Amino acid sequence: MNTLLNRVYSDYFMPSRLDKYEELLVRAIDNGFAQTSVRSLFQLIIDGLALPDKFLMHRHDIDTDIETARKLFVIEKRLNIKSSFYFRLKTLDFKFMKEIEEYGSEASYHYEEIATFAKRNRLRTVTEVRERLVEIRCEFSNNFHAIEKQLGRKLTTVASHGDFVNRRLNFANTEILACHDLRANCGISCEAYDKKLLNVFDIYISDKPYPQHFFPMSPFQAIEEKARICLLTHPRQWKTNWVENSKDNLLRIKEGLSW
Ligand SMILES: [Zn+2]
Repeated sequence: MNTLLNRVYSDYFMPSRLDKYEELLVRAIDNGFAQTSVRSLFQLIIDGLALPDKFLMHRHDIDTDIETARKLFVIEKRLNIKSSFYFRLKTLDFKFMKEIEEYGSEASYHYEEIATFAKRNRLRTVTEVRERLVEIRCEFSNNFHAIEKQLGRKLTTVASHGDFVNRRLNFANTEILACHDLRANCGISCEAYDKKLLNVFDIYISDKPYPQHFFPMSPFQAIEEKARICLLTHPRQWKTNWVENSKDNLLRIKEGLSW
């Protein structure tokens, strides 16, 4: 019951935490952190260049709520901070993505073809999904190239979305990119969960719904204690959006029933 109440509060009544987000970025600046996109940081890694002494890499997964994503972007622009925004097929907003790229941050693809394919074809076991991986990879490739075409830019990094289907199957969307040929054909240098990227961090922090807010620690604490930080954020954890959250909650119920 408490979980449900917390969810309702988190989705509908929680006051905006955007001022906290801004405060975090300012605090990181004051503490000497370079704040970076996934693409820029990974470029340093593959070029074998020295990484900044202290850095905070921002990855935003735009699962829902473009409006709040825009607000995060406005704050970052005001503070001259770069980051990465990953969009699902259902949250793609090319006008916004172009603005992000023109500013110098990164806009790319938050992919979920395993979950989508499993839901559409009612695949309920990992074995069933594995048997269809060739088709799933083909769908990924088509979507990826279509986004590049419409955005008018080469995408080099992507980030996997974690759907309830992935959790139930215990099979992540990252399996799609466990294929050298696919990566080469798409020109993808980094998946946001690649070890080569994750190994450079002292800590990987994700935002979480109220009342937890963060796991495994607050980024405010991390910038006091750590030097190399990955911060994953979602618009939903920073500002409520009644329409978007209701749409997403209803879709989740519908998909849960029909899968
Ligand atoms: Zn996601």
